[in-house]
Amino acid sequence: MIEIGKEIQTAAYLFASILFILSLSGLSSQESAKRGVLYGIVGMAIAIIATLLGKGVGGHVYIIAAIAVASVIGILVARKVEMTAMPQLVAILHSFVGLAAVLVGFGSYLDPKTHTLTGAAHTIHLVEVFVGIFIGAITLTGSIIAWGKLDGKVPSKPWSFKGLQLMNLLLLSACIVLGVFFCKAEGTGGMVYLGIMTAIASFIGVVLVMAIGGGDMPVVVSMLNSYSGWAASAAGFMLGNDLLIVTGALVGSSGAILSMHMCHAMNRSFFSVIFASGSGAGNGGEKKAIEGEVTALNHEEVAGLLKEARSVVIVPGYGMAVAKAQYPIYDMVQTLRKAGKNVRFAIHPVAGRLPGHMNVLLAEANVPYDIVMEMDEINDDMPDTDVVMVIGANDVVNPSAQDDPASSIYGMPVIEAWKADKVIIMKRSMSAGYSGEDNPLFYKPNSEMLYGDAKASVEKILGFLKN
Ligand code: NDP
Repeated sequence: MIEIGKEIQTAAYLFASILFILSLSGLSSQESAKRGVLYGIVGMAIAIIATLLGKGVGGHVYIIAAIAVASVIGILVARKVEMTAMPQLVAILHSFVGLAAVLVGFGSYLDPKTHTLTGAAHTIHLVEVFVGIFIGAITLTGSIIAWGKLDGKVPSKPWSFKGLQLMNLLLLSACIVLGVFFCKAEGTGGMVYLGIMTAIASFIGVVLVMAIGGGDMPVVVSMLNSYSGWAASAAGFMLGNDLLIVTGALVGSSGAILSMHMCHAMNRSFFSVIFASGSGAGNGGEKKAIEGEVTALNHEEVAGLLKEARSVVIVPGYGMAVAKAQYPIYDMVQTLRKAGKNVRFAIHPVAGRLPGHMNVLLAEANVPYDIVMEMDEINDDMPDTDVVMVIGANDVVNPSAQDDPASSIYGMPVIEAWKADKVIIMKRSMSAGYSGEDNPLFYKPNSEMLYGDAKASVEKILGFLKN
């Protein structure tokens, strides 16, 4: 196997870092997202090759075999995974980064070379190992719980108890004390402290994510993305790999910025969400009784309303992703636009199960970007809208976020669909959305339900529109 010098490797790492930055910037808009992904792939390929060819790297056969097996698994999983299961996949992938940081940490501590270091260099390396494993263990277990919550295997409701923050603070303090003993231990004698800290950090990861839930889950996904970046960065410090440090820091900081954006979109304080202090729990009071009656109509009646309307707003949600209804929805939109109607989409920042989920699905169906509006851009137009079609959305149009302080989503800005002349809610039943909160919108006098799978319903409406 050919070997490259340190200078060439550093140049390759620098080039890969630039590609990663371009990748992140490309991913910030739908038009450039594909190019962003391509930059990321090329950057990663350069990074792997430059690392493999670096001086002192052995066991190439095993590494290449591992990459081949992992690539086959990756391709199979990526081809098989449904778009609706992407959040779970992302969460479980974050857990792998956490696990890698833990393993690198233990490996580095057990490496005899570590113990040939002396003085400050030795202490600094031990701190890197300790902190890296701490972040890695939290990321590992936190991501597994997030996967369970997103996959419906763990209840999505926040699980918390009085004194949770105090307990976490005590556990954190215990880890700091263990860290001091660890750094003072001779040889590999600190193993026991490292083991106990790993167990505590794993436990913190579980309770931290268990305590957040319902409508606050989007922040958990982006926050774990951030943790996985810091875990990778910590692994970079342990391995003395500059590229891993830079890449991890890029992921860590972009995940943190995304978390802040999500908190802003949900009108939550970042710290109250990540420390689960008052996140999504409502004020604990009695919920407002829902008044009104639920009425339903059929597909032909919906088509009739659309034919008469001048302005139509479509609010898509997670159910659109489940039903894969974006294609017939766009057919319907084109039919309505040809008939001279003003048709637009209203996208809530946390609709679906991934940041940008709805935008991705609509882009997939070739919906032009200029009719896809953010919630803030379109909420003021609701009173002048004839028909709002809520397709597979629920929490993002729930009025109790504005008027019921006991609701777990109270304070979250929502799309004010109820202000339109007519609201048609398309879903299969009266069941609640991800937050588990009932939705008073369904009972409003200007609301009508259209029960059924979103895709099948839109196709039927389209049939009536075309006749
Ligand atoms: P919701 O989860 O609130 O509601 C989705 C609705 O879709 C359900 O009420 C369901 O009702 C309906 N549905 C499911 N399948 C179908 C189908 N085949 N056809 C028609 N309807 C269907 O989704 P929203 O998008 O309104 O809100 C997102 C929620 O997810 C928020 O609470 C958000 O905080 C949370 N979340 C968001 C994340 C993100 O990053 N965006 C990440 C994690 C959580 P029914 O069963 O009756 O059909």
